[in-house]
Amino acid sequence: SFPRRRGLPEKRKIRDVKKVVAVSSAKGGVGKSTVAVNLALSFARRGIKTGILDTDIFGPSIPTLLNLSGEPRLDENNCLVPLTNYGLKSMSMGYLLPQTQFDNATGEVPMDTTPISWRGLMVTKAMHQLLHSVSWGPLDVLVLDLPPGTGDVQLTINQEVLIDGAVIVTTPQDIALRDAVRGFGMFQRMDVPVLGMVRNMAYFACPNCGHQTKIFSHGDGHHSHGDDRGVIAECKRLGVDFLGDIPLDAQVCEDADRGMPTVVAEETAERSARRQAFLDIA
Ligand code: ADP
Repeated sequence: SFPRRRGLPEKRKIRDVKKVVAVSSAKGGVGKSTVAVNLALSFARRGIKTGILDTDIFGPSIPTLLNLSGEPRLDENNCLVPLTNYGLKSMSMGYLLPQTQFDNATGEVPMDTTPISWRGLMVTKAMHQLLHSVSWGPLDVLVLDLPPGTGDVQLTINQEVLIDGAVIVTTPQDIALRDAVRGFGMFQRMDVPVLGMVRNMAYFACPNCGHQTKIFSHGDGHHSHGDDRGVIAECKRLGVDFLGDIPLDAQVCEDADRGMPTVVAEETAERSARRQAFLDIA
């Protein structure tokens, strides 16, 4: 069922999708998926037809974030039919992995006895199917949740599909920022316009008094080490837009864990700064 191709893969537009926006981070754990899913939901809330494609093969998190599971069905063209929640269409490797991959009782992943060479092949095929064989229907925007890093998988995705723009998620920490700059270089080399950077976990929002505390050194102000390495300064230096801050907020994490992202969870909240932060970036 997989088309065999020889030679270099050609860059293709994803069928029925007007714009592809990739959300990336150069390292894991900075909140890339959380930002990606909340941005996609922010678009959807504005009446923009939106989908999210989770290309993180080894740690797919979109199924949990959207509280979705189960095997997608195939349509008459043998294309995967996206699973939908909160008005957002989604596809993820997490839906395609056999249930036995994860033991719900113990939380352990059983040892994979598939030969390594086969595993690589299966990953390539599955990635191809995710990129080219999903029936998105007409979409205005497809948000690509890229795997963290700037390695081969990211390169392959960039080579296979036409990405209209990239959003880089970083934290205020210097090390994450250095990585983000590396991510910027990757998109530049591949002629993908960088739409901007999002600073996640920018400050700690106290649940009791609402006071905002900068817990990481921002490098933008008085505490910079003579050498200004903050996110905003770096954006200026690179000529990239700074898209905004998301607070480090226990509720954002809780919403994510229970499968109802903040943009949806606080839909009816009168004034939610954390929800507004995502909407503003979108
Ligand atoms: P990545 O995709 O970069 O690996 P995730 O989006 O999976 O990161 O986030 C990693 C963890 O951090 C998750 O438990 C998530 O709920 C939490 N998290 C992400 N952003 C925030 C935030 N702004 N405030 C609190 N927790 C967050």
